[in-house]
Amino acid sequence: MASEGPRPLVAGNWKMNGSVAMLKEPRLLAAMLKDVKLKADVMVCPPAVILRRVKSVLKGSKIKMGGQDCHWNPAGAHTGDVSAEMLKESGCTAVIAGHSERRTNHAETDEMVMKKARGAHRAGLTAIICIGETLEERKSGKTLEVVSRQLKGSVPEESTAAKTVIAYEPVWAIGTGLTPTTPEVAEVHAHIRAELAGIMGAEGKGTRILYGGSVKPSNAVELMSQPNVNGALVGGASLKAADFLGIIKVYT
Ligand code: PEP
Repeated sequence: MASEGPRPLVAGNWKMNGSVAMLKEPRLLAAMLKDVKLKADVMVCPPAVILRRVKSVLKGSKIKMGGQDCHWNPAGAHTGDVSAEMLKESGCTAVIAGHSERRTNHAETDEMVMKKARGAHRAGLTAIICIGETLEERKSGKTLEVVSRQLKGSVPEESTAAKTVIAYEPVWAIGTGLTPTTPEVAEVHAHIRAELAGIMGAEGKGTRILYGGSVKPSNAVELMSQPNVNGALVGGASLKAADFLGIIKVYT
């Protein structure tokens, strides 16, 4: 049973996984969801190079598509980058900004993440803004402080609920099989909800707050039932249609 609030979102982040052979997974998922009445939005975020192929596989299905990252400028001399406008043109409705792997591997700062979120909004995309503490920060009791700092630094004050999603992803829970306890998840999500009111005003109330970090079919019901948890950002378990479906089923 899912908690009350805005319509949830279950988004699958494929990271640097995906190939033409893997297109069978979204094809399968689309077929499996065809006659299912969903109480949540479902999205896949494949690597940029296969977006158009995934889009054609998803044609006519309920599944939306997002990018994994974007540059904040609409175009220009930024070798290797893609803009939010390019993602939009490829069929995306959203883009992830500030995933912890980007923050760590590409030294992305809160300031850069906010610029990316503004780029997403400019292009008409929903910005899925990721935040979350490291294990060291959790152990030293700094989780709420870190989350507050990241929210203030990364979420544009003019953001609307319709075009903004927050993903709380404890860095130590990503890809490790570890998850916070449900009271810990509820505590951080309540804190995020309160902080969003300060940043976005009334729009904060309807903004979706996803939990991400080792979500799988076996723990999805419990995690998604927590107050202020409005869906999930899923990494590893989004790569296989059957596993992803096991999580999406929370919202059927
Ligand atoms: C992620 O990378 O956003 C993520 C949550 O990964 P995983 O589900 O594999 O922990």
